[in-house]
Amino acid sequence: MATFRQRFSLEFKRLAHRASTLRRIFKLTVIGAACLLTSSCQQNSVPFLPEFPQIDLLIVNGMVLDGLGNDAIPADLVIVDEQIVFVGKTAFSPAELDKRVAVRIDAEQRIVAPGFIDLHAHGNPLVTPALENFLAMGVTTICLGQDGTSPEVMNLGDWLVEVENNGISINLAMFVGHGTLRKLTGINRTAEPRPADLLRMLELLDETLKYTFGMSTGLEYNPGLNAQAAELEALAKVVGGNDRLIMSHLRSEDDDQLETSIQELLNQGRFARVHVAHLKSVYGHGSEAAEKILQILNDAREAGVHVTADMYPYNASYTGISIVFPVWAKTTEQFELARLERRAELETFLRDKIARRNGPEATLLGTPPYTGKTLGDLAGELEMPFEQILIDLIGPQGSSGAYFVMDDELQTRLLEDPQISIASDGRIDGFHPRGHGAFAKIIDEYVNQRQLFSLAEAVRKMTSQSASILGLTDRGVIQAGKKADILIFDPAKIKATATYPEPHQFAEGFDVVIVNGKIARRADKITDTFFGKVLKPE
Ligand SMILES: [Zn+2]
Repeated sequence: MATFRQRFSLEFKRLAHRASTLRRIFKLTVIGAACLLTSSCQQNSVPFLPEFPQIDLLIVNGMVLDGLGNDAIPADLVIVDEQIVFVGKTAFSPAELDKRVAVRIDAEQRIVAPGFIDLHAHGNPLVTPALENFLAMGVTTICLGQDGTSPEVMNLGDWLVEVENNGISINLAMFVGHGTLRKLTGINRTAEPRPADLLRMLELLDETLKYTFGMSTGLEYNPGLNAQAAELEALAKVVGGNDRLIMSHLRSEDDDQLETSIQELLNQGRFARVHVAHLKSVYGHGSEAAEKILQILNDAREAGVHVTADMYPYNASYTGISIVFPVWAKTTEQFELARLERRAELETFLRDKIARRNGPEATLLGTPPYTGKTLGDLAGELEMPFEQILIDLIGPQGSSGAYFVMDDELQTRLLEDPQISIASDGRIDGFHPRGHGAFAKIIDEYVNQRQLFSLAEAVRKMTSQSASILGLTDRGVIQAGKKADILIFDPAKIKATATYPEPHQFAEGFDVVIVNGKIARRADKITDTFFGKVLKPE
């Protein structure tokens, strides 16, 4: 087997020269700093970094990727409490190491990178605070409250306090769901809210944005899908007024409606920063279709709209089966009525919709009692047309599934674009491998196997770029002064082992995962104590 050095020989050759230059600069800097601090340049007994008498964590001998896309450089990291205080070559004497350094990690032949930031995730940290699926794939911060849904509580701030008191293994950046706001203010599925109700919703949003990073919309789901342009514009003004972000699950991701749906979000972008969640084209094909989407986003940027996007690296989506039902038969009540009064129409709709979504074999059910079976499998077993199974056995609320509806060429072209960040859209118990594999798969498949982009670029798309989308200035980059969310790994050993039939296998290869300066997972073992924080928007 090739050694780490051979595998990265090019990178190392380039770095060898730079390293020796850097070492010289660091030596000079250290001597210079010591002179300034102690005016005792003549003596050799000046301790290294005397301003930090107690060091909690020292990571030595690693190759540091700063998260900004720059090449890896050999450097050590000095961490005090939850902060990186020094990045460079260290020079502690053995006696000083003993006396001043609590934990020392040798990262020789490994990469040291910022922890990944997952822009779109799901879960309830009050129920599963360990969230080991995320830690195991290198994620140290997740964004919850997605697709228009956040916990249905009047005071999300109190809920966040509860989360932090209860403990959470990784950092949480919270969003408030537009659908939830509609429910909480009694608007629910009304298309045109009464002015007084709309005002109450805007006030609740304004209040909640104090402790959240923005609002999420789920315009393909109830109740968000009922919202019209005027309401969305009013909401956007409040979000923009608070300098927050709108993250949107678009009204439709279907190839023929994608442009219109992006345009709807861009309209809100006149008033606030906007973000396309899990960008994809359902049943679109080819790289030209991707170019067209990227062009729309680039044109908007040039016109002054602050628009960003994330993707997960899989060609199957995962959501409730209601996604294939028409807008007039999505809720249980609508569905029961449609079943009685519009049965033939509903059957035709489902037959056509599933056909366009690559047929019944492309729908893999993920909820008992159908877990692991496709709609095609069920139709064969039960000797029943799949549209009847959907109507008589499952119904719009009856299951979730993975849908193999994306074209690899199209999705890969999108993923490659430097403006697109990475998210998992995963949850710890979802029947889709993205919840345990997404971030590892980027390195395993798109860097190592397919060489779509460099490791430095992949890390940038998962760290500093995501941080800047959120407006987080103290994470996502390895620099003195930033929070110490850090990964140590050999990129060649990163494996995304979760699969569609076995979606709950932890990713492999992230040897050490550090959250807020503390080791949170090491050698495949999660700590009993959790070090995540509920992040405050700036
Ligand atoms: Zn979504």
